[in-house]
Amino acid sequence: MRPMTREEVRASIVNLGPTEKKVRLPAWFDDAPWHRIDYLGWRDMRAPKRAYLVTEADDQALGVLLRQAPNDAAHTSRALMCDLCRSTRRFNEVSLFTAQRPSRDKRERLNTLGLHLCTDLDCAVKMHTKPIRQTFDPLVDDIIATRREGMRSRTIAFIRSVSDAQRTTRRQR
Ligand SMILES: [Zn+2]
Repeated sequence: MRPMTREEVRASIVNLGPTEKKVRLPAWFDDAPWHRIDYLGWRDMRAPKRAYLVTEADDQALGVLLRQAPNDAAHTSRALMCDLCRSTRRFNEVSLFTAQRPSRDKRERLNTLGLHLCTDLDCAVKMHTKPIRQTFDPLVDDIIATRREGMRSRTIAFIRSVSDAQRTTRRQR
């Protein structure tokens, strides 16, 4: 993705609640490896269960606030797949996160969307893992580019589905 400014990233979060106006950026923001990543992902240092994902859609920053769900003990022996990079990893390397849909209606406050995501928000590492290439397969760079496109579009689709709730609610009024 292209490099973004702090202001762009802060303004991009589609589902901040009225009490959560402050988006704390990561300490390494100035060193973000923009060209290697398809989303900027970080945890709030003072509230580590809060995580942010920001990507780029039609040249605009588009981001979401997530909360890591408590670990589900029933699932701790399984491998899980990340919904964004589609890697299957050990159960503790993929976690369930939820996004609160923006709504002014208190009755809808439990309206959340879930996402399985690499716990360390490090999908980019998986994206750049060298594929095992067969003779007639596309070039490694092409395989990685295709993967990244897929991940980018899934990330955009997820964040839009979080913010779309607001539009639907407005239409119903
Ligand atoms: Zn992932």
